[in-house]
Amino acid sequence: MTLLEMSGVTAAYGPVQALFGVDLALAEGEVVALMGRNGMGKTTTIRTLTRLLPASGGTIRFAGRDLAGLPAHRAAQLGLGLVPEGRRCFAPLSVAENLAVAARPGAWTLSGVTELFPRLGERLGQNARTLSGGEQQMLAIGRALLTNPRLLILDEATEGLAPLVRQEIWAAVRRLKSGGMSILLVDKSLRELAAVADRAVVLERGRSVWAGAMAALTPEVTDRYLGL
Ligand code: ATP
Repeated sequence: MTLLEMSGVTAAYGPVQALFGVDLALAEGEVVALMGRNGMGKTTTIRTLTRLLPASGGTIRFAGRDLAGLPAHRAAQLGLGLVPEGRRCFAPLSVAENLAVAARPGAWTLSGVTELFPRLGERLGQNARTLSGGEQQMLAIGRALLTNPRLLILDEATEGLAPLVRQEIWAAVRRLKSGGMSILLVDKSLRELAAVADRAVVLERGRSVWAGAMAALTPEVTDRYLGL
């Protein structure tokens, strides 16, 4: 079943148009990599999908609903679980409080999150400000999971992390995938994306220019659209 369908989506920051026509489909249980060089519109596509930025044109259908006109918190209630770029935990709160404020009823509970990320379980009473970068990222993912989303959206979840911590995040993503979670991913590591994603959508200057199976992403495509 199609969970998400973005079609001809356009968006602008004030007078500056950033998206010129994004098409993106994601089926239930699928992992889709949203790719493209810096500044091509990946984060803007995610902001538009999650209604943090209004679309100026096109349609976004999620779980059978047209998202047009919905405020961001309503889109989140429909099941869009965003882990934003830069992680953003509530620094004055403890790990447990950060998790509790996000929680909504569903299959994901605190014990599921601490099983996925045992380090969070060891730090529940600790202030979020004192966590390492990797732990903050785990907390951000845990918070999104506790909203019991139908789609988990990870924007650069491994950015700036040490290699070992990155591996922990990727291992968690693979576990979520095998548990049937639908995931939309932005990341710089083509190798890791190739290992976990079913399909890719490639953006160039605010347009989706290529979409297909991850296995069909040939060196010609990556050189043309992702090369430096
Ligand atoms: P990166 O990998 O660098 O985050 P990206 O693919 O996510 O890149 P976006 O951040 O979506 O790209 O940016 C798309 C375009 O929109 C760029 O030309 C960027 O300069 C512009 N843009 C992004 N944020 C803003 C903003 N707040 N105001 C004006 N223009 C913006």
